[in-house]
Amino acid sequence: MVMNMWYSKHSPVFETKNSKSIVHPFIVKGHRGLTINPYQGCQHRCGYCYATYEWSPEFYDKIYAKSNAPEVLESQLKSWKSETIEPVMVSSATDAYQPAELKYGLTQKCIEVLQKHNVPYYVFTKSTLIERDLKLHQKYKDDCFLVWSITTCDEKIRRLMEPGTPPAHSMFKVIKKFTDAGVCCGVNIDPIMPFITDSQSQLQEIIDSCHDSGVPYVFGALLRLRSDIWERVKIILKLLHIENGIDQYKKTIYQFREPLEPWCNVTVNESYESRVLQNLEEKVSEKGMIFDFPDLIRSRRLNSNQSYNGGQQVTLTSYM
Ligand code: SF4
Repeated sequence: MVMNMWYSKHSPVFETKNSKSIVHPFIVKGHRGLTINPYQGCQHRCGYCYATYEWSPEFYDKIYAKSNAPEVLESQLKSWKSETIEPVMVSSATDAYQPAELKYGLTQKCIEVLQKHNVPYYVFTKSTLIERDLKLHQKYKDDCFLVWSITTCDEKIRRLMEPGTPPAHSMFKVIKKFTDAGVCCGVNIDPIMPFITDSQSQLQEIIDSCHDSGVPYVFGALLRLRSDIWERVKIILKLLHIENGIDQYKKTIYQFREPLEPWCNVTVNESYESRVLQNLEEKVSEKGMIFDFPDLIRSRRLNSNQSYNGGQQVTLTSYM
C-alpha cells in the first residue's frame, strides 16, 4: 500500500465511525499507561509523524471521527474492573484538537467524561483550538497537564514540514492564556530534526517564547527514524536544500544503511544526542524553567479524590 504524502493542498475527507472501545492500555518503556484517541488520522500533516503506520495509509487525508467515543468512554469507566486508574493520555496517535474537533467536539465531550469520573489526564497537542476549552481544563487544573509539541519558530520550515499546524507564535499566545489561568503547561520540543531545527538560535527562540509565555516545564527529544519517516525526511532535506543532509543523516547522525528494516526505529548517535540535549537543558535552566515534565498526577481511585501510590505509574517522560 502506498502512503499518501504529508504535503497536499487538499482538505481531508471527514468520516464518522463507531468504536467498540476507546480507552486503551499501552506500555511505554516498561510502564503502564492509558490513552484515548477520539480521531484516527491527523490534519496537522507533520512529515515526521510517528503515527503513520502501514494500516492507515490515508492518515493525512481521511480523518475518522469516532462519533460514539464519549458514550463508549463513559461505559468503559463505569464498568472499570480495577479500583484505580492511571492518568489518561489524550491522545497518542492523533491530535485531539485538530480541525475536526471544531466539527465534532468529541475531545471536549471525552474530557468532560474523564473529569466526571475523576480521571487525571495529559493532553499533547500542536493546536490553538484548545483555547475553546480553556475554562474546562482550568476547572480541573490540579489534575491535568497540557503539553504543546513545538518544533520550530521558523515559518518557512514549519510550512514545509508540518503544513497543517498553526504557527508557533499563535500557539504561544494560547499557551500564555492557559498559564495565566493557572493551568500547568509544558512544551515538548519534539522532534528536534538534525540540520533542520537543531541550531542553537532556533532552539533558543523556542526557549525564549516558552519563558515569555510562563511555561514552567520544557522538554525535548531527537527525531527517531523509521523507514516511512525516512522517506519523508529525505524529501524535506532536499526541499530545504540542506547540502549533504541525506548523507550526513546516514553516515554521521543515525549511522545506518539503506534500506531501513520496515518498522524498526533508528535513533541518533549518543554523542550528538547528548550535545543537543545538554545544550537544551542548560538554556532551559538559564531561564529558570525545568528541563523535565512533572509527575503531577498520580493514579487515582476511580470516582474518588484519593490518589493511589501503588503500582508503577507511567510518567510523562516515559512517553518521549
Ligand atoms: S500533530 Fe501529531 S499526530 Fe498529527 S500529524 Fe503531527 S505528529 Fe502526527
